[in-house]
Amino acid sequence: MTVTIALVYQSLLGVYGDRGNSIVLLQRLRRRGLDAELVVCEPGDTIPPDAQVYLLGGGEDLAQISAVKALKADGNLFRGLDAGGVLLAVCAGFQICGTSFTVGENDEVHEGLGLLDVSTRRGPTRAVGEILTEWTLPDGDTSLITGFENHGGYTTLGKDAKPLARVEKGIGNDGRGFEGAVQGKIIGTYPHGPVLARNPALADHLLELALGHELDPLPMSSVATLRTERISAIRG
Ligand code: GLN
Repeated sequence: MTVTIALVYQSLLGVYGDRGNSIVLLQRLRRRGLDAELVVCEPGDTIPPDAQVYLLGGGEDLAQISAVKALKADGNLFRGLDAGGVLLAVCAGFQICGTSFTVGENDEVHEGLGLLDVSTRRGPTRAVGEILTEWTLPDGDTSLITGFENHGGYTTLGKDAKPLARVEKGIGNDGRGFEGAVQGKIIGTYPHGPVLARNPALADHLLELALGHELDPLPMSSVATLRTERISAIRG
């Protein structure tokens, strides 16, 4: 079986280097001897309806409106998720998965994809800087997530979405201590970095969700060293 990773709309949601998440997933599969392919889709291309992992990245406010329109017109992201696909949505990608988000100085409200029970409104100050959070995995273990946040929108979770992690440093969803959202096999989160390069445990969690089984560990000393450096730099 070939695992398909669909990288969606880089021309709209590719501003913050989040395409690196796709490379991390591909490499972590291939280094374990698994077949994996990357499908890069732009508006107008047909998104694969049967990918195992879909990726949305960060982008500017106006691009979010175009992305929602194109994703609704295509429809295959919805089909792929109904069929059991996993979605990682970062920053602008996270915001558009919600029920609504605001754009511009006048805070125009736009309808989102409705995949996550979250909504986003412009916050009092832009959240810019390193972020460190503590993520509790489904088995109860915890792992630190590091990244770089840069967003003006503040996100509120409804009852169907659970926070991904607790904030140790940074703003996160809205400055009130939580970061990201999880709902079924959809994970929304603010950190760039790319987040999966900085946090391989999150990459493997997504792959295990997508494949439905555990993966062998894949220790990489250079990644571990970088992580330790990042964490101590943020903690000061
Ligand atoms: N435009 C959104 C905001 O500022 C998302 C920014 C981003 O993707 N980094 O909230």
